[in-house]
Amino acid sequence: MYERDDFTTILAGFRGGVEFDAPLDAVTSLRIGGPADALVTPADVDDVCHLVRRAAAARVPLMTLGGTNLLVKDGGVRGVVMRLSRLDAMTREEGACVCAEAGARMPALMGFAASQNLSGLEWAAGIPGTVGGAVVMNAGTRLGEMRDCLDAVRLATPDGGLVTRAAADLSFAYRHVDLPAGVVVGARLQLVPASRTHIETRAKDYLQYRKQTQPLSQPNAGSVFKNPPQAAAGRLIEDAGLKGCRVGDAQVSPRHANFLVNLGRARAADMLELIDKIQRDVFRRTGVRLELEWRVVGDDDAPRRRGTG
Ligand SMILES: Cc1cc2nc3c(=O)[nH]c(=O)nc-3n(C[C@H](O)[C@H](O)[C@H](O)COP(=O)(O)OP(=O)(O)OC[C@H]3O[C@@H](n4cnc5c(N)ncnc54)[C@H](O)[C@@H]3O)c2cc1C
Repeated sequence: MYERDDFTTILAGFRGGVEFDAPLDAVTSLRIGGPADALVTPADVDDVCHLVRRAAAARVPLMTLGGTNLLVKDGGVRGVVMRLSRLDAMTREEGACVCAEAGARMPALMGFAASQNLSGLEWAAGIPGTVGGAVVMNAGTRLGEMRDCLDAVRLATPDGGLVTRAAADLSFAYRHVDLPAGVVVGARLQLVPASRTHIETRAKDYLQYRKQTQPLSQPNAGSVFKNPPQAAAGRLIEDAGLKGCRVGDAQVSPRHANFLVNLGRARAADMLELIDKIQRDVFRRTGVRLELEWRVVGDDDAPRRRGTG
């Protein structure tokens, strides 16, 4: 593991917040995860650029999280984990465009767009992550996805610079986009004018549907598996008789089989064992290999401090 002294150079001049040995269960929607060696909250885009450059130069691993599509393993994450919660500005641009910093939450962005009488994000109603995470995941539902409204992405690159890429030049796939190396710091969205009432009614309908079909009151990280071409992942899991199935406090939600919920004290190891069982059972029954939508990060085992043998 990296210890406090290892970050002295990287964090010189850093103006944001820093917490060492920070438990990540506190910042993930699953409420699971071991500690980050350093959890940082940059003050602004410049802070992100400096940190990305210094971490790359020192070869210290750095990852960014919003925490809502993520399983952090029980041993935690080595190096720097960055939260962009202070980068949450949103502005109306010429025409029907909105620019958002990457740490803005998707529900806040939707609310801002509606306040500007701009439609095109209603499909995202109920997606809780950040704008940066939504870009990286090409987040979406059966009603739309990020690529439908993304105009351009801005990234902090390992050389300390900023690059802007037009969405038209990026290659998107289901819950995936090929981006240059770096950290997404902002996005520009092309929306369409519409009445606020129309936008809010549509968003409310989608939210209502989610409330009826998804286990929103329990810690979860959204859909566990991507939907394969043949059928919805949830249907395949349900047909395999796995609704309600448990490993420790990790459970296949009885409400929606493509959601795994934390009943209280689930560990990442429990979640991974349950995922493995689901994949094996569904494959045995149908021949379909379910692919993870969740991103899994970190180490299996707790970090060992230097000098502790
Ligand atoms: C109740 C619930 C419902 C959900 N419904 C949906 C849904 O309908 N559709 C859907 O697509 N998702 C859904 N999700 C999952 C999740 O909200 C989305 O995938 C979201 O876009 C992830 O954003 P995040 O900021 O939490 O990213 P994280 O989950 O933290 O990260 C995802 C990946 O992106 C990387 N990343 C994050 N931010 C940045 C950045 N700024 N720069 C570079 N890399 C970055 C991370 O390192 C990681 O690899 C749901 C989740 C929950 C809890």
